[in-house]
Amino acid sequence: MTTVTTMKCACEPCLCVVSIGDAIQKDGKYYCSQACANGHSEEKGCGHEGCNCG
Ligand SMILES: [Zn+2]
Ligand SMILES: [Zn+2]
Repeated sequence: MTTVTTMKCACEPCLCVVSIGDAIQKDGKYYCSQACANGHSEEKGCGHEGCNCG
């Protein structure tokens, strides 16, 4: 049995879906990128096409 677990990035405006294994974990949440995990304090966006979060 294969468990594929994906979640939406915890960054609110971010539309990306990340798999738990690949996600950046912070405070028990899963983010698609380091910029999102940092709350976009430094970087805007997450580098994923079509995503304008941050
Ligand atoms: Zn994103
Ligand atoms: Zn984001």
